[in-house]
Amino acid sequence: MLNELEKIKKEFLDSVEAIKDSKALEELRIKFLGRKSALTSVLRSLGKLVQEERILVGQKANTLRKEIEERLEQIKNSLYKKGASKISTDYTLPGFPLSLGREHPITKTIQEIIDIFSPLGFQVATGPEIETDYYNFEALNFPPDHPARDEQDSFQIDGGKYLLRTQTSPVQIRVMEKTKPPIRIIAPGACYRRDNPDASHSPMFHQVEGLAVDTDIHFTDLKGVLSEFIHQMFGKEIRMRFVPSFFPFTEPSAEVAISCIICGGKGCPTCGKSGWLEVLGAGMVHPNVFKYVNYDPKKYTGFAFGMGVERIAMLKYGIHDIRLFYQNNLQFLNQF
Ligand SMILES: [Zn+2]
Repeated sequence: MLNELEKIKKEFLDSVEAIKDSKALEELRIKFLGRKSALTSVLRSLGKLVQEERILVGQKANTLRKEIEERLEQIKNSLYKKGASKISTDYTLPGFPLSLGREHPITKTIQEIIDIFSPLGFQVATGPEIETDYYNFEALNFPPDHPARDEQDSFQIDGGKYLLRTQTSPVQIRVMEKTKPPIRIIAPGACYRRDNPDASHSPMFHQVEGLAVDTDIHFTDLKGVLSEFIHQMFGKEIRMRFVPSFFPFTEPSAEVAISCIICGGKGCPTCGKSGWLEVLGAGMVHPNVFKYVNYDPKKYTGFAFGMGVERIAMLKYGIHDIRLFYQNNLQFLNQF
């Protein structure tokens, strides 16, 4: 048996020097390590030997097997380095799959909102995120010292000359300054308020503002546009409710609520047992706002609405904490 092993080793060393490519290497591997190789049959016949001989031959055979494996591995590596390998690189194999990114749920929700309003004739408008007090407050009928400013505490820049916009409503003013009616726009974008982060507040969030101005625009037009939006976004069975409210730049103003999408209006923890969920604010454009942009309030009327994108996404996808949107947690993001 030991002679047999010596013979195998010599034969292997003689033939290994001639290896020039991967194909020959593989043939050699099969010849010396394969199921029908001489070495394998030595290992298989160990059981027939007496114990002392079995230990000795077994050790030698396993050592030889290891030597052959290591030598073949060395040759494989050197062939690979030389680029002599013809079969180890198969250019016809499919490539590694590239993992594609996907849209963030906020981006996706903004796009869904745009896709609903576009066929209704609304164009997308954008404006700067760093605004002046004039566009963010004054021209929207928030006079200095008006208590409604308190709800929108902002980040001031340059001693109050500029601020990070607290709402996307300034885009209304910028568009009306440059365009004559009829106007139909939606303005999506980021807004900032000095809020401490918790499950429902974030110092940065997103809004979509809507504005329509023309002759003969009525509250019924607002209701029609919003009910089309709500039904496309949340489903045909959803009911809407307008509750009187206050915004400086609309009169009359309303908070729009939808029947709870979790309980269907019966009352549950999500809707605070009321059966209703507030989704957006809306109203008819205040005549004072038209005066700031030199529109004749006797000739033109309009409606405006604004919604929080995070709020819409949280309701639609059942997300309970706004902070999840900004934590870059792939386990969360991969669900969308
Ligand atoms: Zn509910």
